Amino acid sequence: MSDVRQHAEEIREQFSEHLDVTVDEVEQRLDNLVNEYRVPLEEARRSVVSHYLDEAGLDRDEIRSGGGGSEQVSVEDVDEDEQWLSLTAKVVDLWEPRSDAVGQVGLLGDETGTIKFTKWADSDLPELEEGAVYHLGNLVSDEYQGNYSVKLNRTTTVAEADEDIEVGDDTAEVEGALVDIQSGSGLIKRCPAEDCTRVLQNGRCSEHGEVEGEFDLRIKGVLDDGLEVHEVIFDKEATEEFTGIGLQEAQDMAMDALDTTVVAEEMREKTLGRYYRVSGPTMGRYLLADEVETLAGPTDAEDVLIKARSI
Ligand SMILES: [Zn+2]
Repeated sequence: MSDVRQHAEEIREQFSEHLDVTVDEVEQRLDNLVNEYRVPLEEARRSVVSHYLDEAGLDRDEIRSGGGGSEQVSVEDVDEDEQWLSLTAKVVDLWEPRSDAVGQVGLLGDETGTIKFTKWADSDLPELEEGAVYHLGNLVSDEYQGNYSVKLNRTTTVAEADEDIEVGDDTAEVEGALVDIQSGSGLIKRCPAEDCTRVLQNGRCSEHGEVEGEFDLRIKGVLDDGLEVHEVIFDKEATEEFTGIGLQEAQDMAMDALDTTVVAEEMREKTLGRYYRVSGPTMGRYLLADEVETLAGPTDAEDVLIKARSI
């Protein structure tokens, strides 16, 4: 297939929901510009797309990207090279491009962290503004020496989002004593409604009322590092690993006792007052526990001092 034909197919696909136009018609327009008027192909494509945008009365960011849908992911999920993906992210920082081929370069962020982005100069995309949130479709991931980035290309779609994002740090690490396991920990039930997952209180979801909940495990813990306290959330996997109590075992315990609170009690007994090093992404004021390590005891300066005095 010729380059012109391929571009024609991509353009027709972009407008498939908006215009009744055939690949042949698009190809003829492109071909005319390229072969008759000697316009470079990329420029011809932009010109033809502009023509159809006018005809459809659309802005550039309203048309479908080429190549079909790409998967909507979070920043932290970008861990493969050459993946096509979509992100909803905030422009955290813009840097000075070092090459003429690069239109914009900087940092994008969502709740799960930040990632470098590069927008090619010839991508024909709108300027991204620092502090704005965008739905970005059809990005391509890139890996360089173990670091991932995303690239905005000419098939990328850019739409400003009507929302703000609190950008999360990549990871944080806290060391301290587990001084509390808060209510809403242990064996809990979540609302099964789509996109809800709220924790039920007495069988009720604050949004959906009385529902048949789904069992889950969670710990909302408080770590005291000697200077301040940190709220740490363990999801099901982290809770199972941290306490050695699995979801089925927790359900059995609750069934035997006819009481779900025995699970949190058991978890308290196993963990409270001990020292841990917890690391993971932060979300708002919470640290989401990815890795947990049990420490022998406090490792702060005061403790070292006490040991030193006692020698
Ligand atoms: Zn609900």
